[in-house]
Formats: sequence, structure tokens, C-alpha cells
Amino acid sequence: MNRQVKEIELLAPLTGPVVPIEDVPDPVFAGKLFGDGIGLDPLDNILVAPCDGTISHLARTSHAVTITTGEGAEVLLHVGIDTVELKGEGFTPKVKEGERVVAGQALIEFDPDYVARRAHSLVTVVAIANGDAFQIARRGSGMMQSGRTLLLTLVSTGHPAVSPTASDAERAAAIASTTTVSDPATGFTMTESTVAVATQVGAAAEARADVTLAHKGGLHARPAARAREAARKFASKVELHYGGKAASLNSIVGLLGLGAGEGANVTVVATGHDAHEALAAVIAELEHDAPAEHEQQSPAQAVSPAPRTAATSRPLEPNTLAGVAASPGVGVGTLVRWDDGDITPPELATGTPASESRALDKALAVVDDELKSTVHQASQRGAVGEAGIFAVHRVLLEDPALVDAARDLISLGKSAGFAWRESIGAQTAMLGSLDDTLLSERAADLRDIEKRVLRALGLSSPSRARDLPNEAVLCADEFTPSDLSGLDTSRVTGLVTARGGATTHAAIIARQLGIPALVAIGDALHAIPDGTMVVVDASAGRLEYAPTTLDIDRARAERARLASVREQNRKTSQLAAQTTDGHAVEIAANIATVNDAQVAVDNGADAVGLLRTELMFIHRPTAPTAAEHAESYQSIVTALQGRTAIIRTLDVGADKEVDYLTLPPEPNPALGLRGIRLAQVRPDLLEDQLRGLVAVQPYGTVRILLPMVTDVNELIRLRARIDELQREMGRTDPIEVGVMIEVPSAALLADQLARYADFLSIGTNDLTQYTLAMDRMQAQLADQADGLHPAVLRLIAATTQGAAKYGRWVGVCGALAGDPVAVPLLVGLGVTELSVDPVSVPAIKARVRSLDYQLCRQRAQDALALESAQAVRAASREVWPLD
Ligand code: PEP
Ligand code: MG
Repeated sequence: MNRQVKEIELLAPLTGPVVPIEDVPDPVFAGKLFGDGIGLDPLDNILVAPCDGTISHLARTSHAVTITTGEGAEVLLHVGIDTVELKGEGFTPKVKEGERVVAGQALIEFDPDYVARRAHSLVTVVAIANGDAFQIARRGSGMMQSGRTLLLTLVSTGHPAVSPTASDAERAAAIASTTTVSDPATGFTMTESTVAVATQVGAAAEARADVTLAHKGGLHARPAARAREAARKFASKVELHYGGKAASLNSIVGLLGLGAGEGANVTVVATGHDAHEALAAVIAELEHDAPAEHEQQSPAQAVSPAPRTAATSRPLEPNTLAGVAASPGVGVGTLVRWDDGDITPPELATGTPASESRALDKALAVVDDELKSTVHQASQRGAVGEAGIFAVHRVLLEDPALVDAARDLISLGKSAGFAWRESIGAQTAMLGSLDDTLLSERAADLRDIEKRVLRALGLSSPSRARDLPNEAVLCADEFTPSDLSGLDTSRVTGLVTARGGATTHAAIIARQLGIPALVAIGDALHAIPDGTMVVVDASAGRLEYAPTTLDIDRARAERARLASVREQNRKTSQLAAQTTDGHAVEIAANIATVNDAQVAVDNGADAVGLLRTELMFIHRPTAPTAAEHAESYQSIVTALQGRTAIIRTLDVGADKEVDYLTLPPEPNPALGLRGIRLAQVRPDLLEDQLRGLVAVQPYGTVRILLPMVTDVNELIRLRARIDELQREMGRTDPIEVGVMIEVPSAALLADQLARYADFLSIGTNDLTQYTLAMDRMQAQLADQADGLHPAVLRLIAATTQGAAKYGRWVGVCGALAGDPVAVPLLVGLGVTELSVDPVSVPAIKARVRSLDYQLCRQRAQDALALESAQAVRAASREVWPLD
């Protein structure tokens, strides 16, 4: 007979969004050293009991409390991170040890402003201290309401619940060995003091031994990382002593700082119950001279060109790297490393220490992900040395010597960027002062991660202050849109990046500027020295470095030819485009600002097919008011001189972030509250925007476009709201409302959507991402995430067929519309509007004029039966060769 398992329900002790335990900004909690649990980012200031029980422990400093339930589960509640250091300031206990409490009863009151200013983070952790006896069966997600929402459900493991004895003591030893955080007040003795651990564990031992370093060149990053790995397998804390200094094996930076060269005699000291085993493992690592691999090289020197042939399958010529074309054309010039300039973050934080600390965590996680994929790519190519170097960079990212120093500065009110730069600066200065060239060179590794993290924090070097040669090919890890907005376009002949993709917003800007751009080249790009002459053949997906004079002459000739074709196209750009057999196609422009509107008009755009309104929300302290919206749209409509504008409502989330929106953290933002779904949590933003849109004069010039629609429900609801607003604002004429087809469900339900929408506009950037399950921001997938994939084409066909049932027209406003190889197929599938970057309008009009519509229709149907994007591209190029 099944015995019913009794469940213990824990209510949220605070109001606020859930933070998964792995994301709690403290390695001790995230590593579950206090037990499995969950975090909450508090929005209120009273910690309440999540269940009935007895207060078995109240921290002396009142920042943490443990409740033991009737069943014996020990529930630790820890307010904020590193709050023991506040020594009780800002906390008022509401209960005493030994007191019985009921669920919802106040336990600790705290001053959120005071604590947030001084602690690393306000994130509060609920952890099950005796995980051997109770485990978590279910956990809540999203927003929690204090004392009301179910946070965790526990079940007994069947092992008897015991009071903290051996296992807790071991946990204490483990904590002491893996962290520098000290928190003697929680009852779980997070102490660095080996005496305290020994006393509590009763079995702690110290073991020490001298060892001569066998590694060529001494204790450098790779051997230090390996020794750290060896030590991590044990609970004991291990230190290295040399020249009167000591460093924990946890900290690569600390180990490098010892300056222990080849043949140096160092002392290894291990403390904990498995000290002898830990000591033996670390010594074995230090005495073993592993092959030097690329230890002596900087990452840039070590990387070998990635044998990727992104744009075509031709083999690579020598001195050539492959990339993904983000903006077509050919550029010749001197390579200028754009991201080498110093990034100077503002010293003072704009947010609270808690929010700066979170920003740093987020940036570290982003960089860690990037490095992880670089290591993976390098290992797949067999580039062991390169993989090893970047693997060490990942270890440096979590180095307590760097991260803790940065957090200290953040707690003093400094910005995350400033704190990170200072913390790296202190270590590079120390390494630079050592009398060892190899160690001084390791400073370059630190500078590399410094820049990566600063970039991930959204900071970049001041671009306008740079002196550029007459012909400059700018090279960066990745350009941010703001890097490109101030470029001197008369000197920049090409853009090349190690990362990025063809649909990132920086790529979109490059196309708007008409500068050839090649992205996703990989880290091999950074191995090309600054000042090298290069040829960027973006259309062929190739970057040639150190080309011959003949190569340069050929590239210049091709550039001149393309310029003359452009000039020809410009002459007819103001005329409407139709195929040779008289089928009209509207060529519209994608814009974001009033300046773009002017460029669109100058280039002959028939209309604006997509106004991305995100720019109106970014780079501001607060969201725009309805009046500000109306003013912005009005100025754009006026600049369009009678042309219509399709204005898309706010599409933030995923690749488009707006700082002040403080949306709940999401594990997978591309699948979360983005686009129209944002209105579920911030209806006010959409409401103001719709009011602004409805106010624009003259009527009929504006069409509203809703992003990320998945089915008719969202459309019907918003349509009704727009009608209501129109009535309120005294407008009687109808305003056209369209939906973006960006997710497969919308394409499949196009007929249903067409019933309620006036038009459909296909966003091929997202439609490709969601159909192929390939992140549009993922550089490694950039060449595969191709909108000409037959699966995407079939969804486009489904859209035009669905729309035809209700006589609606279909446009394409994703990057595919501006791809000359795709244009004949899109037209053949029944798309009647192509919205492209303003500068591409003349070329796309010329392309349409060269086509026979009937042939397009036939060949588009054939393309649906092909098996890959490459096959579709090849077939299109064969029927409709490019200029
Ligand atoms: C798209 O997804 O294709 C699109 C046009 O929208 P965005 O690139 O702004 O996401
Ligand atoms: Mg989109």
C-alpha cells in the first residue's frame, strides 16, 4: 500500500520576484552550500514566517533566522547577501530564539534603503538546511506575495531529520574552503578560521608540505588553474605560501601575484577533514610539468584562423577569414582596432549598490557564456591551446580577488563598471610590478576580461575622439549601436567583428550607413595586428588580411563598379517599382528616427514599412508620455511628406533592453515578456504609446503594427482598445492595425489573424530565430540562421495564403527583404511590400524591375521543396544572378 507522502508548504516570506538559487549573487548560496533553496528580490521590508514552527536560531546580527517545522525541516531565511557585515544595523528582530511562530508572522523588519546601500545585494535566500532529511518537490516562480503565495513544497527524504551535527559541520568546512565570505552569525559558521572549523568539525586537520614548482616559466595561469581544479575536489581549504605572501587556491589572480617562478620552493597548506588528500592532489599538480601548450602566448597570438566558410562553401584562401555578411559591398583599408581605446566608466553609481551588483553579475554571466562558446569552438577545431587560454579566462571571471574587490567598491557607491575596472587595475598593476616578463604578460589576459565585462555592462570606448586614417576598416569584438551612430562615414570603408550576427541592431545600422560589414568572424580576428591592410568582401563573406597589391587593386575596382551601379540605381529610385510583366511591389524603408525618415525619402522609399519605436524608450530616464510619443511620430510623419508610416508599438525584451523598466528577471527572455506581451506587466507603456499614435495628423498617414503577436486574442483585445481610444479622442475614421508575423504560430494562424488585421508584416529576423530555434544573437549560428531556409519560406507561403483569404496584403520588414537573393522568392510567394534599410531602397527597386513575376511564382514554389537554405540560395542565384 502506498503511504501518502506528507508535504510541507512554505509561503513566500517577502513580496518580490523569485531568483533561482543558482542566480543568487553569492557563490555560497548559489552553490547550495547552505542547502537547496530559492531566492527572492524583496519589494517589501518585513520578513515573515513561511510556515509554522519554532525559531531554532536567530543570528546575533538579526539578518538571518532559522525556523524548525513540526516535521523537523530546518528553514533558513537569510536577508540580503553579506549582510552579516552590517553588524545588525538596519535590522530589527521581531521574534526570539525558542519562540513558536505561525505562518505569516513577522520575523525581521529591515530598512531596505540602508541595507541596499551597504550590502552586496538585497536578494533574500530561503534554504533548507537539513537537505538530507527534506528535499524540495516544487518551487514557485515569478512574482511572490508575502505570506500568501506558495514558494516551496518540501517532502521528507525518509532519512530522519537530525539536528545540525556531523553533516552541518562538514558543510561548514566546505564553506570555509570554498569561499572568503565570513558569516559567523548564522549558526552555520561561515568562518575562514580553521580553528573554528576544527573545533566544530572535531576532525579538521592541517597538512603542509614544501614543493618545488616544475612548470616551465613558474606558476602561470594554466598551472594555477589546474592546481585550483585539483583543490576544488576537496572540502579542505588550501593555500600557497611563498616569499612571505599567501594566496588561496581559489584565486588565480592571488596565485599569480605570488610571483613564484620556475623552480621556486612554495609551501602548500591544506586545512580541513580531508587535508591530506587535498594536499597530495595539489602537490601532484604542481610537481607535474604539463606540456606548455600556448601558455606563453596571449590569446590573440594563440588563436588560429577558424576554418569556417560562413557565406559560401568555397575553401578559404591563405590569409583569409570567413564571416557572415551583415552589410553588402567591398571595403579596402587599414585595420583599426575600435575596442582598444580605454573605456572609462562613470565613477559613481546611478543605481543602488544592489542593482549595480546585479548588473555586474549579469555582465559576468554574459561574458562567461561568450567564453564558453569560444572554448567549445576552439576545442572542436582541435585548438587545445586556444581553448585552454579562454578556459582560464572563465576561471578569472569568478576569481574572488577580482569579484570581491569590485563588490567592495560597489558597496561604497561606485558604478559596476568603475568597480570592475579598478579591481582589474589593482591586479594588473601588481602583476606588472613583478620582475617576471611572463607574469607581466598575464596582465593582458586581465585587461581582456576587463574589456569584455565592461562591454557586457553596455560601456564602450569614446568613438568620436579617435583619429582615423582615410580608409579605415574598423574591427571590434562587437559593435554596439551607439559605437556606430557617431562614425565618420567618410573614412570608414568597412566593419568587421568577431561576434554578432546579420540581424543584430548594429548590423542593421551598418546597412543603413551603407558600410560593408562582415560579422561573426570569430576570435581569430583579434590575431590580426592593428594597422594591417585588409580587404573586406562582405558579399562573399571574406576578410583578406595582408593582401597583395593585385588583390587591393581588384578590390578597389570592384568597389568602384559597385559605386557606379549604386549611382545608376539612384537615378530611378524615386519611381515606383514593378516587374517586367507589370506586377507592382512597394519598396518601403525601415527607420527609427526622423533623420532616417529623411534618408528614406531621399532614397526613394515609397513609404515607411517599419518604424522601430524602441529608440524612443532607450537612452532616457523614464518612459515617454503620450504627448512625447505624439510629438515624435508627428515629426516623422511630417518628414515623410505624405508617405504612410507603419509604426510598431514597443518591442523590448530579449535583444532590446530598456534599463528603467526593471522587468522581472527571466531565464529565457527571447521567449518571455517581450513585444506585445509586455503589456501584460506594463499596460501603461502601451496605453501611452497608443494615445500618441492615435493623435497623429493627418488621419490615414499612420498604421499601427503590433509585434510578437501569437494569436487573434491579443489582436482583438488591442484593436478594441484602439477603437475605444479613438472614440475618446474624437476620431471617427478607422486606423489600420497590422500584426507582425514573427513567431511560427502567427504564420500558421495567418488566416485567422487576417480576419481582424488590415495587413500582415513578416519579421523574418525573429521568424527565422523561432522557426529554426537559433538565437539571432548567437554568432556561432549566424551563418545557419538563414531566412531562406525552406521551413521559413513555407511559413511565409502560409502567411500570404492565409492573408489572401481575407484580401489582406503582406509585407516583409525583416532583413530578408533587403537580400537581393531573397527578393525574387518573396515576390513569387505573394509578398507585395518589401521594407528595407533606407539606403538599400534603390538597389531593391532595381532588383524588382529586373524580375518576371510569373517566373518568380513558379520558382518560389520549387524552392519550397528544397532541403536547405544553401540549396535555396544556390537555386535563386542561378535563375537570378546578382550584378
Ligand atoms: C524582425 O523580427 O524581423 C523584425 C523586423 O523586428 P526586429 O528586428 O526589430 O526584432
Ligand atoms: Mg522582431
